Amino acid sequence: MNMIALIDPVMFKLFLIALRKNHIKVLYKLGNLALNWYECKKRKIELRSYPLKLYIEIGNICNLHCKMCLRQWFKRKEGVMSIDQISYIIEQNPGLIGVGVGGWGEPLLHPHSSEIDY
Ligand code: SF4
Repeated sequence: MNMIALIDPVMFKLFLIALRKNHIKVLYKLGNLALNWYECKKRKIELRSYPLKLYIEIGNICNLHCKMCLRQWFKRKEGVMSIDQISYIIEQNPGLIGVGVGGWGEPLLHPHSSEIDY
């Protein structure tokens, strides 16, 4: 993938974050982004940079029963992550510029979905 194509939208998003949040965190994220870019360019196997994005399955509950959905064969227990668990994961990754939620369930059914602010 062309790294410039990847970085431009990322830089734009960081600029938007800088407008909303405190600037020390944004500077840290920019440093992490630059380190990550360097490590990818050098094809490093072990990275010192933190992940830029996470995708978290905050719950696996769903109020629908779509015929094509694989959930019908799942045997795992249904439930949702606590806000503390979600916050802990995000705090452990200070270089994040984006968090996605989803997975095998409807994330908006999480009882605290409106409190997840990133
Ligand atoms: S998880 Fe998605 S595909 Fe599966 S039943 Fe729920 S809405 Fe349908």
